[in-house]
Amino acid sequence: MPSALRVSGASLVACALLALLPGAGRAEPHRAPTARSAKRAEAAHRAKPKKVKKACAREKAKPFLVRQNYLKSGQLPKALRFRAERYGWVEGAGLEGFAEHSALSQAAQTTFMGLPIRVHKKVVPKLRCVERTIRKSCNGKGKRYVPKAIGGFREANTYRQGEVSNHMFGIAIDIDPDRNPCCGCVDPWPSHRYCQGGAKNVFEKTELTRCWIDAFEQHGFYWLGRDQLEDTMHFEYLGDPDR
Ligand SMILES: [Zn+2]
Repeated sequence: MPSALRVSGASLVACALLALLPGAGRAEPHRAPTARSAKRAEAAHRAKPKKVKKACAREKAKPFLVRQNYLKSGQLPKALRFRAERYGWVEGAGLEGFAEHSALSQAAQTTFMGLPIRVHKKVVPKLRCVERTIRKSCNGKGKRYVPKAIGGFREANTYRQGEVSNHMFGIAIDIDPDRNPCCGCVDPWPSHRYCQGGAKNVFEKTELTRCWIDAFEQHGFYWLGRDQLEDTMHFEYLGDPDR
């Protein structure tokens, strides 16, 4: 449970700092730290669950990190720099100047909806939030979806022309490619039965439910089904992991 650990670690540090602050208690130097400090300790204790909740607060994907936006505006280098600074450099992308460590060296093994997956350690708490939302909200007909195969970190780039797949940073997840195709990708994808016309929109080209897509999007993930690629299996975290 890295997220829970981090939260309790953070509050411990905060408490320690408070105790060490030279000005702490300066307003009442002669009074024994009784009722007031007890109250403060109680408030700090109460603040803990609030922090956990905040970690899963709604978050939007940053527009400049969205593929169709940076391709249109020519801001691919800015998007790459942001990712390298936050997650580390990736092999062959010339990003070593922006980060000391590689993204791959920060990979973490975890699970999502009971399935094993390897992602960047900073994305683990984000996936936890998505899973929590799905388990709470996506039950019943038309909302439920049961994944069978998922993928995260990848070590070979699938893009050309300077783009770097978010799988290389460990911030993307693919869910059941055979049930959620990428109709705009290279062959053989377009020949998938869901890409063969008849669909009114991209939501009809995937078995993922709107509830699942909404759950990811609430927590800073972008669904690549919205992109020209119509890559419906693919979600990528485009929020700020350090916020
Ligand atoms: Zn993908």
